[in-house]
Amino acid sequence: MELNYRLYFLEFIHPFGVSSNTRRETPSVFIELDANDNRGYGEACLPAYLGETVEATISFFNLAKSYLKKLKIPFDVETCMADIDSLKEGHNAAKAAIDIALHDLKGKIDGKSVAQFYGLSEMDSGITSFTIGIDSEPVLAQKIKEAEEFRILKIKAGTSDDKALMNMIRKYTDKPLYVDVNQGWKNKEHALEMAMFMKDENVLLLEQPMPVNMKKEMAWLTERSPVPTFGDESVKRLKDLKELDGAFHGVNIKLMKSAGLSEALKMIDFCKEKKIKVFLGCMAESSCATGAMAQIISLADHIDLDAPLLYKNDPFEGIHYKNGRISPGSSPGIGVKPQVELFK
Ligand code: MG
Repeated sequence: MELNYRLYFLEFIHPFGVSSNTRRETPSVFIELDANDNRGYGEACLPAYLGETVEATISFFNLAKSYLKKLKIPFDVETCMADIDSLKEGHNAAKAAIDIALHDLKGKIDGKSVAQFYGLSEMDSGITSFTIGIDSEPVLAQKIKEAEEFRILKIKAGTSDDKALMNMIRKYTDKPLYVDVNQGWKNKEHALEMAMFMKDENVLLLEQPMPVNMKKEMAWLTERSPVPTFGDESVKRLKDLKELDGAFHGVNIKLMKSAGLSEALKMIDFCKEKKIKVFLGCMAESSCATGAMAQIISLADHIDLDAPLLYKNDPFEGIHYKNGRISPGSSPGIGVKPQVELFK
């Protein structure tokens, strides 16, 4: 089969703020696996903080091309991904794109959605949080208003004064919140004090409260925190999850970190066995990668799959949002298709 790729810039409706920077657009490299009668689509989402560049991603696709060219139908996705993974270290977003496209192609060949392929209960929809980036008070108030239909909001904290940020947010909404600290609390006593404060503010979970290199302090906080803690930057792949040692109550699994669905499902199995909570999240992805993750929402304790709502120019369609819930697409494969011609 042939692999074609296309660099594309997703433009944000609102410039998007996290504790370290503000972005107006974000690059994704979309791929198409062309197997004559069927085409599978995938996405490598490459926000700068991920540390995977467009150039490195494209060079990985070029490396994978010769392997994919020899691939015969029928193929086993898990075996293919083990081979693709062994081509080169890292490149998790590029690997995720190939994994998503292989799942999409396999589903289309077999006439099954990814959920059906894995024998998962096919949920019509699941409650997803909606993310509000850091901004000035009038813009924040406007964003909260626009997110009216969502029952849970996700706030990007880790500012110089998160109590002030929370007080500002609470002027406009009393909804339950997920708070993503993005490694912003650098001292364990301060983190615990903040966790206590967040408990009283109806915060349901704290994501990555402390820096990745403070694993012991994170475990100390997790033992004491009245709000469940979730690892994000600390946990990319299965190997990181196995080395957590009680650092978090739960983990935010994202396809761009896990190198795709194959390993995300293994991570979820591990979480279920060890009673670690599963939060299914996304990077700044379009409906392509988000559509793939939406296929497995029946396995989640929490869902944060709102990214496609953030753009003016999402090139894929098929997932739906209504009343604060996300519904996966029901067509074979990942349930989404390009709505513009991406590959000529
Ligand atoms: Mg996060």
